[in-house]
Amino acid sequence: MKVTVWGTRGSQASPGPDTIRYGGNTSCVELQADAEADARVVLDAGTGLRRLGVELSPDVRRVDVLLTHLHMDHIQGLGFFSPLFRPDFEVHIWGPGSATADLHTRLTRYMSPPLFPVRLQELACDLHLHDLNEGCVEVPGFTVRTALVCHPGPTVGYRLENEHGSLAYLPDHEPRLACSRFADSPEWCSGFEIAAGVDVLIHDAQYSDAEYDQRVGWGHSSLSQTLAFARLANVKHLMPFHHDPAHDDDTLDDFFDGATARPVEPFTIGAAREGMTFDVAARATV
Ligand SMILES: [Zn+2]
Ligand SMILES: [Zn+2]
Repeated sequence: MKVTVWGTRGSQASPGPDTIRYGGNTSCVELQADAEADARVVLDAGTGLRRLGVELSPDVRRVDVLLTHLHMDHIQGLGFFSPLFRPDFEVHIWGPGSATADLHTRLTRYMSPPLFPVRLQELACDLHLHDLNEGCVEVPGFTVRTALVCHPGPTVGYRLENEHGSLAYLPDHEPRLACSRFADSPEWCSGFEIAAGVDVLIHDAQYSDAEYDQRVGWGHSSLSQTLAFARLANVKHLMPFHHDPAHDDDTLDDFFDGATARPVEPFTIGAAREGMTFDVAARATV
């Protein structure tokens, strides 16, 4: 299972010499089931999706885009994703509906004037939209399990598995808000069943503890809370993600050097950087 990271941020950061190592684009991660796969799974459609579309292998004809939720930083790249405008592409978009509107209705609010010039129904690709709140589905190369998790508005986490490994993706997640009552029962913790025992956990780590104290209820985690969640879930490798746009490269280096300097964690840690590519099984055994 090969992973390529195209966007790491919680909101777009100005590209510049102080954001080169971690990147400036918003959430977007590409998964390739194995070397022969001619389909791709894409986790979230942040601004990193534009470059993913440009650099996609010419063999690929199907893409499944799994949206965790519809906050702007997770859908902003959709309108700039070149396969949507090609009739030879099959594109499936999966994501949560709400109590009052399905995914199609919710996405149409962005993909229509005045917010965007092209409407969903005008896209040239073979487009399929699927509501996905909780459950298990099969997409080419992966079994996908979803669960609703703690974040403002309908939001899901994803667990993807195949014979080559397992990966959990919880880019926007505030388990501290939902889990304090269930400290003795981890199975009740938001996101636990998605993350339990995975090879690689990609998880929200937007804030320092001091920043979190000023932003309780905004839907994100501090790095120390993310380390605690990874410990609870017994993951093999943690990848802190959804970096704050106000944190430049040096700030993030200090942030993560502090975490990795502590030898006590039972998992390895490596923060997400835009442009990085890795194999899930290899990362889990580092
Ligand atoms: Zn976000
Ligand atoms: Zn969000």
